[in-house]
Amino acid sequence: QNPQNVGLIIGVTGIVGNSLAEILPVSDTPGGPWKVYGVARRPRPSWNADHPVHYIQCDVSDPKDTQTKLSPLNDVTHIFWVTWANRPTEAECCKINGSMLENVLDALMPNAPNLTHICIQTGHKHYIGPFEAFGKIKPHDTPFIEDVPRLDAPNFYYTLEDIAFEACKKKEGMTWSVHRPAVIFGFSPYSMMNMLDSLIVYAAICKHENVPLKFPGTKTAWNCYFVASDADLIAEQQIWCSVDPNGKNEAFNCSNGDVFKWKHLWKVLAEKFDVEYEELDENQEYVSLAERMKDKGPVWDEIVKKNNLTPTKLEEVATFWFADLMLYGECMLDSMNKSKEHGFFGFRNSQNSLISVIDKMKAHKIVP
Ligand code: NAD
Repeated sequence: QNPQNVGLIIGVTGIVGNSLAEILPVSDTPGGPWKVYGVARRPRPSWNADHPVHYIQCDVSDPKDTQTKLSPLNDVTHIFWVTWANRPTEAECCKINGSMLENVLDALMPNAPNLTHICIQTGHKHYIGPFEAFGKIKPHDTPFIEDVPRLDAPNFYYTLEDIAFEACKKKEGMTWSVHRPAVIFGFSPYSMMNMLDSLIVYAAICKHENVPLKFPGTKTAWNCYFVASDADLIAEQQIWCSVDPNGKNEAFNCSNGDVFKWKHLWKVLAEKFDVEYEELDENQEYVSLAERMKDKGPVWDEIVKKNNLTPTKLEEVATFWFADLMLYGECMLDSMNKSKEHGFFGFRNSQNSLISVIDKMKAHKIVP
């Protein structure tokens, strides 16, 4: 069967890239059968290898490498932009992330005549501002809605949007969609920001050391309503926008559609690791997860060896700084009205999202 649609996932080993690689090739996925290319910088990891995807190791920040490896892909119809690069300042983030996207478009636009759609994944920082602006500029009021004006601060999300808009102006019939998740619940030991993987690794370390699982966040984070975005759900929304006219040339929030509290999910995490759990002691001194875990590299190596796990380093599987950031202040909620009004009705139960990520971590032997 000839594929009608050919997807190119930039960031295929990342938290949403890995979900796209799993879902796109499935025969009853909307727009299917899809042929799928997937790009990432490093060699293909074992946990991504079963997805029927043409894997391309390429550094899209390098224009030459990008031209060489991506300009021959003349059958691509859809780009899924699920990558990013971090730099010390947001001005530098704008520069590097913008040039990565331009490199990919420069390789594809002249060579892929059937290119019709580009999905750009950004996030809630569209409404809050970049990390460096936290506490310095006034974020938009919650619940976030898509059609508010941009904040007056540099933001690489805006740079990506503008480049996508320009590309669509240059090619007749080409469309874009922008996807703005909250914190993502997904499986990828290579993600640069993975809150759940970090908490799951922390739980595995507590179990190994036979100590109770203490909540490493603040009282605010323990008690507030929280929203999350399941990585598979984000992939589904991107695929919906790729094939449904109602999803084109629009930006959409993408969260699970429920709210939860960490004080409830903490127990679920503990039970999955059969580790004793503690309610937050509201008088306890705040100690960040990064601080708690700073000497645990050798402990992690021991856990990997003892349980015959897929070889990983602690700093690879866990991004404790990011979990700390998410578990510090009050979570900011978004609205899914626009997405539903346009016809995307996907949702997830966040507790089930958590369980599914834990199960994937175990199935791929990342944690015992
Ligand atoms: P990720 O860190 O999980 O994955 C990044 C992927 O891109 C990996 O496959 C990596 O190998 C690849 N990659 C990185 N640099 C590359 C390069 N130069 N060449 C080729 N491949 C490269 O990504 P993510 O977290 O899904 O981030 C995508 C966007 O989503 C970002 O803008 C991020 O801010 C946003 N976002 C993330 C979260 C989250 O919880 N992770 C939440 C909201 C928004």
